[in-house]
Amino acid sequence: MKVKAAVFRDPQEGPGLETLDMRGPGRGEVLVRMVAAGICHTDMKFAASDSPVPGPVVLGHEGAGLVEAVGPGVTKVTRGDPVVLTFGSCGTCPSCTDNAPAYCHDLAGINFGGTPHRAARFTDGAGAPVTGDFFSQSSFATYAVAQERGVVKVRPDAPLEMLGPLGCGFQTGAGAVFNEFRMQPGQTLAVFGVGAVGLTAVMAAHVAQGGRIVAVDRNAERLELAKELGAHMAIHASREDVAQTLRATLPQGVDFALDTTAALPVMRQAIEVLAPRGVAGMTATPRDSAAAFVTMGHLQLGRSIRGINEGNSDPDFTIPMLVDLFMQGRFPVDRLVRFYDFDQIAEAFDDLRDGTTVKPILRLGAQN
Ligand SMILES: [Zn+2]
Ligand SMILES: [Zn+2]
Repeated sequence: MKVKAAVFRDPQEGPGLETLDMRGPGRGEVLVRMVAAGICHTDMKFAASDSPVPGPVVLGHEGAGLVEAVGPGVTKVTRGDPVVLTFGSCGTCPSCTDNAPAYCHDLAGINFGGTPHRAARFTDGAGAPVTGDFFSQSSFATYAVAQERGVVKVRPDAPLEMLGPLGCGFQTGAGAVFNEFRMQPGQTLAVFGVGAVGLTAVMAAHVAQGGRIVAVDRNAERLELAKELGAHMAIHASREDVAQTLRATLPQGVDFALDTTAALPVMRQAIEVLAPRGVAGMTATPRDSAAAFVTMGHLQLGRSIRGINEGNSDPDFTIPMLVDLFMQGRFPVDRLVRFYDFDQIAEAFDDLRDGTTVKPILRLGAQN
């Protein structure tokens, strides 16, 4: 079928809208008429010149839309269902069978390079292949084919155009607090970097009745927003000594620290401010991840460091829970988003890059 998709060919030129031929849905696949898709920093990473997936490629991995058709063997959804698209997973490895698909043993293969037909998913006007199946969806398009495991049905009264980022950025922040830290009332959390991931972690900690929620960033406007969304304390990292300011209020340190920056000096701070038995969660990997920054003596008092993928979410459980919280007004992600028309995709990427918009969402045509 013909679809309109944003194709990334040359990192210097950015995306261009093209009409492509799309194959599918095949066995176990779901065809979705796209309502909207959020833009995440991972899209930016894969649009860059050192992308692990060279162009031409259709990116996009925070899609939401309506099921148009299902391939053979699909039982989870039917035509017309409102769905959020999320990451793919194998369903059979030890993590998947333990409801921890975010730690699927084949996560990278499935989402960035593995599905058998990804090279043949799209064909351009000249008959040349365009890579698809990015994050098991390639949702910067008017239609997308997703794997059944990466499709989550949501309640029909929720505004679909707002929900795509629940498939990645929003469940990454909230899931870290709910699924990984399992934060209890009164416990303390410091969030380093309050973009979409950090701010949804702040919101989740507020829902979990965190005793002290601390936001750390270098953007005064974002810090103000973090306070409005539940942070008790904001530390401007380029104006204050973070550890000193934090310990003036919490001399023991924090129960949990969440790094969303992937900057080694910041990650080091997140570990330093932990109380005994505290956990530092890292949501992204720095480029130079081999550089050592841990003092073993510091870890000896039960402190630990965890890499956290996608908020350790089982999307079939976490996404509907977050939609419910949103509908109750307790997870106000509408405060983070700005909508763009599909042909404004380059501007939306620019606004994410320079921090003008916390979470850009592209409108892709369909409505619910
Ligand atoms: Zn798996
Ligand atoms: Zn993402």
